[in-house]
Amino acid sequence: MKYIEEFRRHDLAQQLAQAIHDEADSSRQYNLMEFCGGHTHAIFRYGVQDLMPANERFVHGPGCPVCVLPVKRIDEAISLLHEHDVILCTYGDLLRVPASKRKSLMKVKAEGADVRMVYSTQDALRIARDNPDRQVVFFAIGFETTTPPTAVAIRQAQAEGLENFSVFCNHVLTPAAIQNILESPEVRDIGAVSIDGFFGPSHVSSIIGSRPYEFFAEEFQRPVVIAGFEPLDVMQSALMLVRQLNEGRHEVENEYTRVVSRDGNLKAQRLVGEVLELRRSFEWRGLGEVPYSALKIKQPYADFDAERRFPIPVVSSSEVKGCECPRILRGVKKPTDCKLFGTVCTPENPMGSCMVSSEGACAAYWSYGRFRAPEQQPDQPPTQRQEAVA
Ligand code: SF4
Repeated sequence: MKYIEEFRRHDLAQQLAQAIHDEADSSRQYNLMEFCGGHTHAIFRYGVQDLMPANERFVHGPGCPVCVLPVKRIDEAISLLHEHDVILCTYGDLLRVPASKRKSLMKVKAEGADVRMVYSTQDALRIARDNPDRQVVFFAIGFETTTPPTAVAIRQAQAEGLENFSVFCNHVLTPAAIQNILESPEVRDIGAVSIDGFFGPSHVSSIIGSRPYEFFAEEFQRPVVIAGFEPLDVMQSALMLVRQLNEGRHEVENEYTRVVSRDGNLKAQRLVGEVLELRRSFEWRGLGEVPYSALKIKQPYADFDAERRFPIPVVSSSEVKGCECPRILRGVKKPTDCKLFGTVCTPENPMGSCMVSSEGACAAYWSYGRFRAPEQQPDQPPTQRQEAVA
């Protein structure tokens, strides 16, 4: 397979669906959690759930780094803007995530704060070079996939002596979060969430490899299949998970072999290890404090750490009332369980990170039309939409 269309072939999807139906044991349930929002979107965009047997259920997990970033960190970024008059650079999704007091980075930008959307860390470095009289802070966010560019930027800033550049580091790590979910009372004690197996992250695993998941597959006796983001990837991985569960196995298997190896990208890992190190603890939206689940900047690069360069006041933060994001991120609720879904909260007017992020579960439920009224369907041209309303 060389081209993207081949991973979306209808005939192959039907064959895979048949194989899953044939092999799924009708006397049991298969609750399969996709950790990544990319998988959630593939499931909804291509209607993968409709091809599954009734006893196979997708459980949506933490999704994406924007979704799991706690409100507090956005409030802190806003206070950096207000207290220290910095130029704050970050990726687009983050701009619209609601912060406390009905603020967001987009809103404070509209009020005059200097917030700039960037496409890469190199854009942020360029802004710092172009504005030598201003402090430029890069709001770094992402799972393991985006840590190498942040490490490169910090090294580059040090090599250039770029004294007005620093990084507000919010990089988080996936294996610790999966372990935290499996250890949560909702999974372990109450049984509110049943998780029989995991679709392992794809892009993340291209950096860290599949090896880090081996510990908890063994410890918690849950199979993991590293899955690509195309619909046939998801279906093939579902079949692999069903087979493992039928055979009583709990191993790490790799469906995404065209990108992921067991050891990952060693060069990128070395680079990240030179610049970043584990935080003792970090707060995740929905999961709370998770030990050793995030990265901070190492001492030799401390001059480029915004948290050391600027005193950041302790702020008291709050979620939007009624937003169920924290429970959705733990797999306890679905977007449609939220009273605000599609009424008060839409991608145009998001109340929580899961509706803002292009990988969020609420955005996935909404974007492909499945849970909208006919007049809200995305594919209808305006004239048809008007007729439907009439
Ligand atoms: S629909 Fe909106 S308010 Fe409800 S959980 Fe999702 S993001 Fe939060």
